[in-house]
Amino acid sequence: QAKHQGKSSYAHFTPELSEISHERLQMESRMRRALELQEFELYFQPIVDTATGKLRAAEALLRWNNPVMGLVMPDRFIPLAEETGLIVPIGEWVLEQACLAATGWKAITGQDIGISVNVSPRQFRDPGFTKAVMRALSNNELAPKRLELEITERLLLDNSIETAEILREMDSAGIRLSVDDFGTGYSALSYLKSYPFDTLKIDKSFVQDVMKESEDATLVRAIINMAHSLGLTVVAEGVEDEQQTHFLQQEGCDFAQGYFYSRPLPAGEFTEWLRTNHRISI
Ligand code: C2E
Ligand code: MG
Ligand code: MG
Ligand code: MG
Repeated sequence: QAKHQGKSSYAHFTPELSEISHERLQMESRMRRALELQEFELYFQPIVDTATGKLRAAEALLRWNNPVMGLVMPDRFIPLAEETGLIVPIGEWVLEQACLAATGWKAITGQDIGISVNVSPRQFRDPGFTKAVMRALSNNELAPKRLELEITERLLLDNSIETAEILREMDSAGIRLSVDDFGTGYSALSYLKSYPFDTLKIDKSFVQDVMKESEDATLVRAIINMAHSLGLTVVAEGVEDEQQTHFLQQEGCDFAQGYFYSRPLPAGEFTEWLRTNHRISI
């Protein structure tokens, strides 16, 4: 009986598995060509001062426009880019384009607007990472303090000396560092005092239910207070409505980001947004 079942499930799974690996291979080969075919595009989402509604910075969010697959969202291709190492050249392109965009906004508004860039572990650990960051800044004449690198707790799990050194190097260069998706990473909180972070970004899963689940409200309040007592700035992610905004204002959350303010926008639309909402908070 067991043998029979094993055999039939084996027979059942083989074609599906090979279909999946075929899809992956196809995606990988498309991704290899995507940079030179200029299929990647950065979208930008405002990060806003909760008290004043003024803009502080924008987060760069990667999109892939593929002629066959259409608009591909990062959750669908970043993991494969990480596995294959393609995230290294893609990430360099992102850094370059993000700094270029921030310099352009200064020309439009006359003011310094920060840019936040997501960095995944494979990219961070690449030996050329520090140089790539410095090059993107100098190529685009962007002040280091206008660049914020967003990393997740996942990167800190290995507790490596190299990770600590790179973080310190970035910090001494004046680049800002934030913990993205805070609260989802299962890592020990002690890293917050040993690494030079500037900002905590509260994961949207906590923010989305602050008005529905009193536990989430308690957690968000506690995260804000803890961050402030450690001297960190707090950004709430995934803010979708006015009640959430009020709650965050009341709790003293410094900045917010979410559909309530704006969806991530293509460069041209973001520039339009800047022209019309151009109250800037630095
Ligand atoms: P993340 O860094 O946490 O980015 C925030 C995500 O939340 C974005 O998803 C954004 O579109 C979405 N979001 C913003 N406001 C709201 C809201 O009010 N409600 C909801 N439900 N969602 C909101 P997106 O653009 O799909 O990116 C997903 C993840 O992919 C990012 O999460 C980040 O981890 C990764 N990613 C994006 N761009 C890059 C990149 O250039 N490099 C690397 N390594 N990772 C990237
Ligand atoms: Mg992020
Ligand atoms: Mg610092
Ligand atoms: Mg996040």
